[in-house]
Amino acid sequence: MKNIGIIGGGQLGKMIAISAKEMGNNTIVLDPNPDSPAFGVSDEKIIAEYDDLNACDILVDKSDIITYEFENIKLDSVQYIEKYRTVFPSSKVLSISQNRILEKEFLNNNKIPVAEFKLVNNEKDIIKFCENFNFPVVIKTATEGYDGKGQKIIKSFDDISSSFNEISKKKTKIIIEKFIDFDKEVSVICSRDISGKIISFPISENIHVNHILDKSIVPARISIDLEKKINNLAEIVVNQLELIGLICIEMFVLGEKIFINEIAPRPHNSGHYTLDACDISQFDQIVKILLDLPTTKPKLLSPVVMFNLLGDIWVDNLSPNWSNALKTPGSKLYLYGKHEPRAGRKMGHINILNNSLEDAIRLSESCKSRLYE
Ligand code: AMP
Repeated sequence: MKNIGIIGGGQLGKMIAISAKEMGNNTIVLDPNPDSPAFGVSDEKIIAEYDDLNACDILVDKSDIITYEFENIKLDSVQYIEKYRTVFPSSKVLSISQNRILEKEFLNNNKIPVAEFKLVNNEKDIIKFCENFNFPVVIKTATEGYDGKGQKIIKSFDDISSSFNEISKKKTKIIIEKFIDFDKEVSVICSRDISGKIISFPISENIHVNHILDKSIVPARISIDLEKKINNLAEIVVNQLELIGLICIEMFVLGEKIFINEIAPRPHNSGHYTLDACDISQFDQIVKILLDLPTTKPKLLSPVVMFNLLGDIWVDNLSPNWSNALKTPGSKLYLYGKHEPRAGRKMGHINILNNSLEDAIRLSESCKSRLYE
């Protein structure tokens, strides 16, 4: 059918390429790393830096339509590509989501609640913010942060100097925000197609460890009222962004209050459960939008828990015991094909499906510990 260009060859690019292929398309993946997971499944690879305009030209020539799998790509490159080919989501959406300051201003301007925040230029700004809002607070780089990189929690005046010095090393603007003592973190994957039709996936309840997603529990254990509020907020965000494509909206829930933490205009780790527990995955949905095919409301087929396999497992224990772990009923393993396990690096995930959510949670814990036996 079509030639789909994908900027970024990580696991998300790989899973977009698999869905695209299943629907009969060709894929062309651009990534500087020759070992990129998506290269194993794409029809063509372009090994080059994202800001290499010759490589961008090749991608344009080979593709009918282009998407990306992560936000930390050069905006200039995407704007350049967009002159010649449609990119979904657009560079306008990308520009907002790749900069925490623009992101929070966009949300604030649209009266969408976010944690109190301020731009930080020096330590005095941090002291002032902490005097106003009390501890703990979080300082974050405005750009290029992911999986907990580029952020620090400050718990007392004593932490300010060292945290500021560490985050300043990244040479990007810095923001400070109030730490939300949330009851739950949740996310919703939401798509908007060319006709403006908005569809949300079931809400995922997310548990982070060291600022990195550890597990997603679906359906999220929240009230119907909260579910409605979350879906309404998501709809406002995608409409205001004039999104065409797919986005993940991460939120903190505190009592009946919701704060949006982050938006990511691409498939997301917290949506990996859709691969097995929904009749249509997040990857299928973005591919359908790229192809201008009708999008349908995904059905949740089963309660599910997804847990990440970080490189730490290999660091602690050279050969994880897959056969033992996969004795767990309802388990499905995904390994992304990354050759170098490093602490905090996402190497794969396991989805555990069960008719009872409580059992899925219990089984996910025993499955994980069986990897070490
Ligand atoms: P982020 O990169 O902003 O998505 O942050 C990663 C994770 O750090 C979040 O999913 C939360 O678990 C935690 N976190 C970040 N900012 C805050 C905050 N303002 N309040 C509470 N937890 C936070």
